[in-house]
Parts: sequence; C-alpha cells; structure tokens
Amino acid sequence: MPSANKIPFFNYPALYKRDENGLLGVLTDVLERGAFILQRDLDAFEAALAEFLGVRHVFGVADGTNAMILGLRAAGLKPGDEVILPSHTYIATAASVHFAGGKPVLADMLPDHMIDPASVEKLVTPRTRAIMPVQVNGRTADMDALRKIADAHGLLIFEDAAQALGSMYKGRCAGTFGAFGTFSFYPAKVLGCFGDGGAVVTDDDAVAEQIALLRDHGRNADGEVVAWGTNSRLDNMQAAVLLHKLHSYPAEMERRREIAHLYETELGGLADITLPPGPDADPDHYDIYQNYEIESGRRDALRQHLSDNGIGTLIQWSGTPVHKMRKLGFTETLPATEAFFERCFMLPMHTALSDDDVKRICGTIQGFYSKSAKAA
Ligand SMILES: *Cc1c(COP(=O)(O)O)cnc(C)c1O
Repeated sequence: MPSANKIPFFNYPALYKRDENGLLGVLTDVLERGAFILQRDLDAFEAALAEFLGVRHVFGVADGTNAMILGLRAAGLKPGDEVILPSHTYIATAASVHFAGGKPVLADMLPDHMIDPASVEKLVTPRTRAIMPVQVNGRTADMDALRKIADAHGLLIFEDAAQALGSMYKGRCAGTFGAFGTFSFYPAKVLGCFGDGGAVVTDDDAVAEQIALLRDHGRNADGEVVAWGTNSRLDNMQAAVLLHKLHSYPAEMERRREIAHLYETELGGLADITLPPGPDADPDHYDIYQNYEIESGRRDALRQHLSDNGIGTLIQWSGTPVHKMRKLGFTETLPATEAFFERCFMLPMHTALSDDDVKRICGTIQGFYSKSAKAA
C-alpha cells in the first residue's frame, strides 16, 4: 500500500527552498563582486569556523578527502608509517593515508560506533605513527582513552571529523584533539555546501604553515613559491554559503538532537532494534547526529517494509566496511564490525523532517514488528 507522500532519505530541494532568498542573496553578492578564489568570504568563513571550534588555524580546502591528505602531509607522515583507523569509515580515510604515503591499519569498533581503543592497542607496532579516529555519525570517540594509548607509545592523533562538526567530548570539539582534524562540507553533511568542500584545522603553527603552502601551489603570503604544493582551495562562493549557514548551525544541531530524542522515545521499547546513544545518554558526549544509524536483526525485511511505505533508508558505505575491501589488500577479521554490518542501516535524519514525519517512520517500524509478532 503506497503512501500518499514519501519521506526520502535526504531532501536537498526542501532544504534549499527553506532559505531560498537568503542563499540566492549570498550567491548574487559573490557573483557581483567577481570574488571566486581565496577571497574575503573564505577568510571570514575560516575565522568564524576557528572561533566556533576553538582552534587556532582553519583552512578551507577542496573537500574532506583533500583535507586529510594535506593534513597528513603537513604533519610529516613518512613512507611506510602505519596509521590506525577504524574500519567503519568511508574509504576516503584509508585512501588518504595511502596517498600520503602511509599504510592504513584497520581497527574494530565499539557498540557506540566509535573506534575500539582495545583493538587499537593490539595493532600498535614499531612502525605505527598515529591513531586516526573517525568521529562517525556526529559522535566523538573517547579521546581520553585514545590519548592514553598515543602517549604510551609516542603516537600522534589525527581526526577524521568529516561527520562531526560541533560534536564534543568533555566540552571540546571534534577535530581539535590532535595534530590536525578534518571536516567535509559535502552537500549531505550537517554543514553542507553546493558541491565539494572541506576544511583542515590545527592548533600547531608549523603544521598550519605547511598546509597553507600545500593548498596553494607552495606559494607564501607574498606569492613566492617556496615549496612543492598543489591546488586544493575551498571556492570562495562555497565559503560564502557556508558562512551564511554557520550562523544557524547551533539550531541545526539542536533540531537533529530533538529528532534523535524522538526516535529514541518511539523506538526505545523494540527488542530487535539497537539505537545509537541518545542525546542525553551521558554528560561526556555532545552528539550532533550527522546520521541516525540503527541496527535490526531483520534489517533487510524491515528496510523493504519501510520502502513499501514510502520511507527512504540507506546502509552506510554501501554496506562494506573498509577491511572487507579485499581488492585493496586488506585481510583483517574484525568481529564487532562484521556483526554490526549484518544489522546496520540509517533512518532519515535532516532538518526538513517534521515531528509527524519522524512519528510516521517510527509507526511504520512498530507496525512491522507487531505484524510479524502476530504472524509468528
Ligand atoms: C564525507 C566523509 C569524508 C570525505 O569527505 P569528502 O568531502 O566527500 O571528500 C571522509 N570521511 C568520512 C567519515 C566522511 O563521512
């Protein structure tokens, strides 16, 4: 029985329409000034983001993947250096380590979706250079536990915080714990632009100096080429859009937390469903819910039921954690990650959803389980 109105997994047109005049005003202003590359809107966005995060240096770059490659190179990754990262991530994290000359080593995960410090500890070798947690789904890993391991073995920490702008652990923002952190402004990210975009942030002046050179052909502030560099600059037009959106970002995060709370209230009682940590689960974490990733023992049938009722869902990374990409040479067995990927999928999570939309999604899930209970 197809429903009258669909609830898509994501809704770009609705999010645009909501602020059409504001966004067009920003674009028109940039177009009228002809200000496209390394212009004042980029400076202003970088300064605003630095203040928001509480970090010294922010560089807008081409995308989240380039942000990681530049950060890794600026931090001095050397050929053969091993970097331990979770398998529950986008291939971009591992690929960035590869392209910066290092070797990605994949760790298992905890029930809260974060990298498992016990798994990290077991993977440390004399070649390990850094731990690179991925702050997946808008949550920040237990950075105290990772810092302890890093300090015990003399390792650096790098953060892929592509999904976690504004997420905090013990009051400190994701992306600001290590030698550098990175963000993505891919359109579906919580802070998304109208194409590709990213940022790399650091408190380390020496790393910052390297990134500034690397992203703009090795040119210093006077335009003199003083190092080998590349072209990886966030477009000024995208920066202007992002600066505009950053003003309403706190409300964006809070609305996502409200939706997460609603999901928890409505679905918390279902025995076959495992939910992510709730917004008020513990005082150490402030999660911003880039995604709402849940687990179900009957995932495929449940997704079909939701789809039959006009509700879009998605399995992250097309259902394949990085260590299962055997063509890339990975051979690890990671039990928790493998069990998770038999069960995980994501419900719609964005701020064009109304409370009624969320309740309809939850009602459809409840209907699935009560129907199958009767049939059993
Ligand atoms: C989106 C994402 C990236 C890459 O971002 P791009 O801007 O698309 O290059 C990296 N890591 C994670 C965890 C992501 O979700």
